[in-house]
Amino acid sequence: MLTGCGFFGGEKKGDEQAGNQSEVVRYEGPMSKVLPYVYTARKELSLTFNGMADKQTMEKLLDELDKFNIKATFFVPGMRVAEEPDIAQFIVSRGHEIENNTLSRLDMSKLSYTQIHKEIQLSNEIIKKETGKLPRYLRTRSGDYTDDVRLAAAQTGMEAVVVYSLFLHNWQGETDADKLSFVRKYITRGGIITIDTEENSDLVEEIPIVAQAAKDVGYALIPLSELIAHGGERKPLEQIAGYDDIRMNMDYTNEKYNLIYDVVTDEKKITLTFDDWGTDYTITKILDILAENDVKATFFLRAKGVEGNPNLARAMIEEGHDVANHSYSHPVVTTLTPQELQEDVVKAHHVITEAIQQKPTTLFRPPTGEIDDTTAKVIAAIGYPDIALYDVTTFDWDVRNSAEDIVNKIMKQTENGSVILLHMLDDIHTIEALPIAIKRLKQKGFTFVKMADLIGLKE
Ligand SMILES: [Zn+2]
Repeated sequence: MLTGCGFFGGEKKGDEQAGNQSEVVRYEGPMSKVLPYVYTARKELSLTFNGMADKQTMEKLLDELDKFNIKATFFVPGMRVAEEPDIAQFIVSRGHEIENNTLSRLDMSKLSYTQIHKEIQLSNEIIKKETGKLPRYLRTRSGDYTDDVRLAAAQTGMEAVVVYSLFLHNWQGETDADKLSFVRKYITRGGIITIDTEENSDLVEEIPIVAQAAKDVGYALIPLSELIAHGGERKPLEQIAGYDDIRMNMDYTNEKYNLIYDVVTDEKKITLTFDDWGTDYTITKILDILAENDVKATFFLRAKGVEGNPNLARAMIEEGHDVANHSYSHPVVTTLTPQELQEDVVKAHHVITEAIQQKPTTLFRPPTGEIDDTTAKVIAAIGYPDIALYDVTTFDWDVRNSAEDIVNKIMKQTENGSVILLHMLDDIHTIEALPIAIKRLKQKGFTFVKMADLIGLKE
């Protein structure tokens, strides 16, 4: 392949001859940003590939992508593009994006700055020369990166170092149903799925699984540059108003608090509340049902889950719901020391604030509902005087309770001013029960308001 030889032919000798003259000075500008996922609450994510397998495999892969109408993003090694430019050209001509997987997919952590720079720069040049497309994004073979990789990416004009939200490696004997439920679990808004075309031996068979999983959740697979263009920059925590309204405060002995189970009212107003956390599959279904029925609800988030998937928490806000605090690690609050408890709840406040990019509703709901006088004071002292409990319980978190059981429990207990407790956990029957319960409650004349509005919470 004469086309590529000029870039790295006689590499070793060339390097020695060039000596210090070819040394690249470490970039002093800002490091390139890193994208493990894109900040967006839109129902979309990207499918990306690493490496460039043999021609036959790549052609099969492209045919399969066409079958499911997926436009993907290919991170290709410059060396392989130099060897078989027609494969890279074929990727581009079929409407996919082509990006930089470094020149020869070496372990970047073992290379000098000059070598890293060369691995990126030469790969860009080859890809541009052979396909007419200058890569904008960089990804290493494993997705790992160092500060030097980020600096060299910035120096060579790359817009971002792209990581992944799910790296789909070879299966270990799972059934088709297991594979689908595994991938579905990791379908997230703004997610970046990665498959290595050289490592993954079931490469072509992965495509229908990914396509089905995305369809089940209701999300579109779009090229990475579109996903990034639709995404936004997220403000750091310290720039969000109200992030420090909730603070450690050990002077709690005289704190006043309210335990709120329901409200006394003549109006037929009630509120739906959802606790804990789940996958996009479950939570998006809940959001869609609420939107179809024009109901606004309050979500009490387990912040440890939010930390790994902030886009889903942001989606709740964008759909007009309230988001509140259900602790970070979901402890039974009465088992913690005051110090531990305050640390957990403040941490949850920070995680949720950063995820939703605004101050959450200042309601705290204790995990399992367990609370006593001292812990209520400890929580009130940091800025959560309103402890949001409930009067309608359905045990929907227990998978043994059917949709019918859940609906019946709701209908039996709900009255004016009720606070209904439900869960957004996976694999329980809440999403089946929800549309039926909403319909029957509306038939009884109830209207739905957010919990803060029901109790007249003044922010
Ligand atoms: Zn809970």
